[in-house]
Amino acid sequence: MEKVRTRFAPSPTGFMHLGGLRTALYAYLYAKHNGGDFILRIEDTDQQRYVEGAVELIYSSLKESGLIYDEGPDVGGNYGPYVQSERKEIYQKYAKKLIELGGAYYCFCSKERLESLTDENGNRKYDKHCLNLPKEEVERRLAAGEPYVIRQNIPSEGVSEYEDMVYGTIRVDYADLEDNILIKSDGMPTYNFANVIDDHLMGITHVIRGTEYLSSTPKYNLMYDAFGWERPKYIHLPTIMKDATRKLSKRYGDANFDDFVKKGYLKEAIINYVALLGWSPKSNVEKMTLKEMVDTFSLDGISKSPSIFDEMKLRWLNGEYIRELSEDEFYAHALPYLENSAVNGKFDLKKIAKLLHGRVEVLGDIPEKIDWLVTLPDYDLALFENKKNKTDEEVAKALLPEIKEWLEGIDDFSNDSLFSSLSEKAKEKGVKSGSIFWVMRIAITGMAVTPGGATEIAELLGKQETLARIEKSISLLA
Ligand code: GLU
Repeated sequence: MEKVRTRFAPSPTGFMHLGGLRTALYAYLYAKHNGGDFILRIEDTDQQRYVEGAVELIYSSLKESGLIYDEGPDVGGNYGPYVQSERKEIYQKYAKKLIELGGAYYCFCSKERLESLTDENGNRKYDKHCLNLPKEEVERRLAAGEPYVIRQNIPSEGVSEYEDMVYGTIRVDYADLEDNILIKSDGMPTYNFANVIDDHLMGITHVIRGTEYLSSTPKYNLMYDAFGWERPKYIHLPTIMKDATRKLSKRYGDANFDDFVKKGYLKEAIINYVALLGWSPKSNVEKMTLKEMVDTFSLDGISKSPSIFDEMKLRWLNGEYIRELSEDEFYAHALPYLENSAVNGKFDLKKIAKLLHGRVEVLGDIPEKIDWLVTLPDYDLALFENKKNKTDEEVAKALLPEIKEWLEGIDDFSNDSLFSSLSEKAKEKGVKSGSIFWVMRIAITGMAVTPGGATEIAELLGKQETLARIEKSISLLA
């Protein structure tokens, strides 16, 4: 069997949209599952849309996600150049050939003439006006330097058919297609032309891209057929939706890889989640390493219907990945967020990281999760009420002065020492230690749910601050 070759062909827009990342991932998985090659090609023929640094961002996003390409602009390969703007002569050559083969023609129509083709509904379809210009006239006008474009010659009638490996048989009426431009007046190719030439010359066996290309693929097939080239196999991928009615769109800039990384999602978690946007692994196991995805990837798991981007699920998955980090890894990941929070310079960040590990789903939540360490927030006294520990405001009022006294007598303010001393006191006094710890936790944090127990937090706050907070709570209860 011939070696599988897939490609990811992004336009350098300045961000890596999750939809693009999914296309790249599936192309990578399909190639690697089948022992093939994964190629990166930069589609930059729209020079007006040039964005500084955009190409580097594509390289880095793919590499950081583990999608290592075998060939590409910065790594080389036998089928280069891998940047479309460097392939202008190649397109020119093939466009001329396609004209000779009858698959394309020169068009000299003016902007005004094209505009006059607009119907009352604002729709416009090119009327093949230049298709039948006599050969001599075309040559004369070209020699005179008249501006022109090259258009594809699409049959006026008939039905085109091809097999998509996900969507099955696709039929499109030629009448629904237009003689689109293949080469623009500046000599640059359009996507419609360049994708065919490049996929063929780069030996791409499987073209993997979004469903927005399902209905234009017949145009590309006409060109493969005209050149006498074998058509590639097609794998179109379902749309990713933001909700039931709206697409997750690159235009609105939502869902960019970098933004999620900045929010505190781990790259492994993002890639894992993106894999699930349109593919269900047979095992139903959702948490997978890239290697596991490569091993299990199969086209029959790809759904035909749109998938909805669910940030809550991504959060959950991210939390799972965070839990698996070692203490040191977590600290390294959490550090920028800790440094950016109010606790920086006031607390031992390593201790806070230890407290938070396993208790955050997204690293970006860290600053707001630890605000209370800096100042005791205003809180609702009803928090003291807890059935399990048999506490309420009255119990707190009675216990807090005692807790304060006990704490004053403890010199070693480490978690272990505090825990055993207070448990001992509870026993002596004949109250549940749970009651003591509950009341103390509310009094020093103002929260019912905290990362870590009362004594862990007291260790972090230190003796002075712990006592000051208890005093404050005593006065609130008075
Ligand atoms: N440059 C196209 C895009 O970014 C690529 C489509 C394709 O994979 O053929 O949508």
